[in-house]
Amino acid sequence: MNAAYLYLQLYKLFDEITPINADCGELCEKACCRGGDDSGMLLFPGECEVYRLLEPNWARLDKTDMTYEWNGKTYRVPILFCDGCCDRYQRPLSCRIFPLTPRLDGEGRLEIVTDPRAKHVCPISRGFLPGDYSAKFVKNIRRSFTLLMKSSRFRAFMKEYTNYLDDFGKFISNQ
Ligand code: SF4
Ligand code: SF4
Repeated sequence: MNAAYLYLQLYKLFDEITPINADCGELCEKACCRGGDDSGMLLFPGECEVYRLLEPNWARLDKTDMTYEWNGKTYRVPILFCDGCCDRYQRPLSCRIFPLTPRLDGEGRLEIVTDPRAKHVCPISRGFLPGDYSAKFVKNIRRSFTLLMKSSRFRAFMKEYTNYLDDFGKFISNQ
């Protein structure tokens, strides 16, 4: 399946579904959209095809230092930067699922956890467990990543992404 088409379908699961059944942006004046020059949203494998297709004028694509190996090749993980505003219907999956994220547990199974990068940004992430969010929101995240995990490339990415999240979690717990 065409990667851009796949992600555009997944995006629809989050067009109307948000972390809680209210506008949480009113709690924090959209803190997660106020990142500085050094912050951006990681794109999942193949997701940059969406932005190559749409060419939105509010987004800038770059590469991170995070890499993963798949099929004998090394891939660098892309990142999307914005200036704090976007077309809501074009925002990337990372923004749609924030402050939760997929992770692999010790057995390599998918789990949905609070994103350790959210804890210093997002007020609800500090008090909520994943089960406290809108059930539909959590269900749609699980559905999306269960589908994406069918790809061996995506699974290869998830191993490195889990290491990255765990390292980030250790870093902030030592601060
Ligand atoms: S920072 Fe958290 S509470 Fe604020 S808009 Fe983003 S997800 Fe909602
Ligand atoms: S792309 Fe949109 S939703 Fe994501 S951080 Fe930027 S302004 Fe916020």
